[in-house]
Amino acid sequence: MAVERTFSIIKPDATRRNLTGAVNAKLEEAGLRIVAQKRIHMSKDQAEGFYAVHKERPFFGELVEFMISEPVVVQVLEGEDAVAKNREVMGATNPAEADAGTIRKEFALNIGENSVHGSDSLENAGIEIAFFFNDDEIVG
Ligand code: ATP
Ligand code: MG
Repeated sequence: MAVERTFSIIKPDATRRNLTGAVNAKLEEAGLRIVAQKRIHMSKDQAEGFYAVHKERPFFGELVEFMISEPVVVQVLEGEDAVAKNREVMGATNPAEADAGTIRKEFALNIGENSVHGSDSLENAGIEIAFFFNDDEIVG
């Protein structure tokens, strides 16, 4: 295991319901350190760029509209095995399939409004962190 950084988003369904602190508590309880964090209202260009990998998927338009509907909190998380650890504490994409105690099981509304995003690989984590943060905004 190695200390890694991963990228996380607290999505609009969670910020709207005032769950930023509740989500952060889950992350911190899992041993992840929030080494950068900012609340932003994503532009359409940003959301389309960030999710470009999904642009052929049938839900792409809905996903972009959702992500720009209200503010989100973008974060850098640091810790041992951070990429996998964050995916574990997030739970399955569809909250109906998520394990008990995970963020999505406890907070997500449905497969689209699923409260959090987390990088799916170390390589993508680096790309996604650089999409939203400058190096001097990350304080480990
Ligand atoms: P994320 O990338 O947000 O961490 P994920 O890796 O679990 O989630 P992906 O397959 O990468 O899931 O899908 C990206 C996002 O697109 C999901 O988090 C969800 O918000 C949305 N999404 C995925 N599948 C569907 C679907 N069938 N219908 C509506 N939205 C979906
Ligand atoms: Mg994904």
